[in-house]
Amino acid sequence: MPTLDIRDLTVNYAIKGGTLQALAPVNLTMHGGDFTVALGASGCGKSTLLNCIAGFLPPSSGEILLDGQPVTGPGADRGVVFQKHALMPWLNVRDNVALGLRLNGMGKAERDAVALAKLRLVSLEKYADRAVYELSGGMQQRVGIARALASDPAVLLMDEPMGALDAFTRETVQEILLQAWAKAQKMVFFITHSVEEALFLGTRLIVMSPSPGRISHVYEDVPFSRQFLAHGDARKVKSEPEFIRMREEVLAIIHHREVAHA
Ligand code: ADP
Ligand code: MG
Repeated sequence: MPTLDIRDLTVNYAIKGGTLQALAPVNLTMHGGDFTVALGASGCGKSTLLNCIAGFLPPSSGEILLDGQPVTGPGADRGVVFQKHALMPWLNVRDNVALGLRLNGMGKAERDAVALAKLRLVSLEKYADRAVYELSGGMQQRVGIARALASDPAVLLMDEPMGALDAFTRETVQEILLQAWAKAQKMVFFITHSVEEALFLGTRLIVMSPSPGRISHVYEDVPFSRQFLAHGDARKVKSEPEFIRMREEVLAIIHHREVAHA
């Protein structure tokens, strides 16, 4: 089972007149099958943390180890999904999903088969031959998820992937993502600033706070995604007394802090 170890990670940005500490030492360990959600107001270092795991940004100190090997740059073992889908408009859906495989030299028949299997995970296999601009925003994000899964990465990194979707589409994509996660058994690191989304998706919730960015609260064994997967009724999960209690508790943590900083 893959393990991701983040040890005493700090990141400083050079800014006019000095440095800005974006992350105070962050320590976090994730395993295959964990769905870790990072939640927090904007500016608390969520994207900085994700970009370090992705290998887009070097740590200022500390280290990130994937199965014991230091992360030194981007790699096929980490798939990334951003808020803006970044699909290639001149390629159809299948070829978008297969693009990374093509660049790695995989033959056409094999990569088409992989792409179709990943599209099936997000219930889009019927759209394989369509142009990406013919698809709705929610479908485009699902293609982005299929593409990120194409190289069979150990880790799926998602930076507010639902941020640009309307509320209804967002709920649909959340459900499809959970179903794909359950089938693919990936380690997911997912950023959001929606408390409800965080509780619905994550098996673990980390709440981050700013100046400097750090993990202030951790909730382990969040049960709601598994409840949804067991019976398939998202509304039932989100209206359970325990869901509402945790939602209010986490909102109070974040809201209290924002009031304190206002
Ligand atoms: P979040 O994703 O939680 O909104 P970020 O990781 O984007 O937070 O940013 C954390 C802090 O680092 C913020 O204060 C932000 O302004 C600052 N920051 C982010 N990227 C840069 C950069 N390239 N240069 C300077 N400061 C940055
Ligand atoms: Mg961000």
